[in-house]
Amino acid sequence: MPKIETSYQELLKLLREAAVLNSCASLLGWDEQTYLPQAGSAHRAEQLALLAGLTHDRSTSPRIGELLTELEQSGSLGDAESVLAVNVREARHSYDRNTKLPRTLVEELSRTTTLAQSAWVSARKKSSFAEFQPWLEKMVALKREQAEALGYSGGVPYDALLDEFEPGASSQEIAAAFAPLREELVPLVAAIKQSSLRPKVELLTQRFRTEDQKHFAESAARAIGFDFEAGRLDIAAHPFCSSMGPGDCRLTTRYNEHHFPGAFFGVMHEAGHGLYEQGVDPAAFGSPMGDAVSLGIHESQSRLWENFVGRSRAFWQHFFGAAQQAFPEALTEVSLDDWYAAINDVRPSFIRVEADEVTYNLHIMLRFDLEQPLISGDLQPADVPGVWNETFSRYFGLTPPDDAHGCLQDIHWSAGLFGYFPTYALGNMYAAQFFEAAQRDLGDLSALFARGEFRPLLDWLRKNIHSRGKQLRAGQLVQRVTGQPLSHRALLAHLHNKCDPLYGLS
Ligand code: ZN
Repeated sequence: MPKIETSYQELLKLLREAAVLNSCASLLGWDEQTYLPQAGSAHRAEQLALLAGLTHDRSTSPRIGELLTELEQSGSLGDAESVLAVNVREARHSYDRNTKLPRTLVEELSRTTTLAQSAWVSARKKSSFAEFQPWLEKMVALKREQAEALGYSGGVPYDALLDEFEPGASSQEIAAAFAPLREELVPLVAAIKQSSLRPKVELLTQRFRTEDQKHFAESAARAIGFDFEAGRLDIAAHPFCSSMGPGDCRLTTRYNEHHFPGAFFGVMHEAGHGLYEQGVDPAAFGSPMGDAVSLGIHESQSRLWENFVGRSRAFWQHFFGAAQQAFPEALTEVSLDDWYAAINDVRPSFIRVEADEVTYNLHIMLRFDLEQPLISGDLQPADVPGVWNETFSRYFGLTPPDDAHGCLQDIHWSAGLFGYFPTYALGNMYAAQFFEAAQRDLGDLSALFARGEFRPLLDWLRKNIHSRGKQLRAGQLVQRVTGQPLSHRALLAHLHNKCDPLYGLS
């Protein structure tokens, strides 16, 4: 075997070992959220901390650095999109991120995050920003330190944090896509608020037995292609999708007998993440070619199945009969039109995680508006509640009654996740662009959905997105697959197509 091939195989082996260790932590994390007896949580924390340390040591091993340098200097990487070149490029990217941070900062961040999160839980309960403020100050200071250690181009420290979730994206590019989206969403939300057409949302809060919800949601996830031989669905307080590696992808949801959409669209959403995980090349596990592009692209897959498929009329043309059979008391007398309108109800509300497809993006932009100046130092943590409420009323025409319904609602900042929020709205925009491109390639997707045929769409996503691993960065992928750069247009067209007839807008 030529020397360079030996080095490459050694690199892949080291990356894979780190990924295997990490997947053990994922499994323990999943168990913690689903079945762990409460008395076991202290020991679980010890298990997870040890694994995190081992994974960190493995993934920052100087040997990886040596191998990467050797491969980079060999002149044999070839085409930038070849498997070898992609694996080396992306392994370098994470290796540099992992090794640039001093150990003291990593430990300080981890300790402060744990404390800040419990302070946040208590502050949110009392709706007391004052109680959380010192923790937000500490967190912001540490994240600024982290951004400096990581380095950034273009003079925007926030971009160094964004890079963890959306590699290669810049806040400038995101802001350029958000601005026109916001300009059109604000009047759309206002027009819907004014409309006299109101969906019968009370249909959604009738009694839907938990056991029946579970079967129905599972049958829908199976119909869109989620492989239950290689995955499962369990109950957890916070819905998520976690992949343990090839052949083992786990979804969670939570059920409320008097609220149908929560669990059902939650499962569609997490199954969308799961379809992505089940679609990457199992043989490439542990290497960048076997990994998702970014959080934004991951979210595009969940949103696509949840909203563009699961909330479409065609989907329910196929599934409504089965829903009526599953929930005869609630749905026998209900028409498909009323059901379709109810699951697409749009109304401004204070809480992001309960927001509909239209207003959701405004919740994200508000957070993006605040995060950047917080990290650059142009906004002081003490001023967050005021700026939050002022921006909220500009976007939604409502003022939050208290900080629990305002700037204290999300866990992200206490968890140090600055730069994470934009990936949700990027996911919505990417989803719309991908869906439009799939429609162009496959013809009328509605006609397929109405017949219960979801395979052509899944195959298209597998071929164009899932199987590529990290071959392209998010921006390049969208350009390659859709022929367009990141843009708000497809998402707005989709929202108008849906909402204009539902709310009698012209
Ligand atoms: Zn998601």
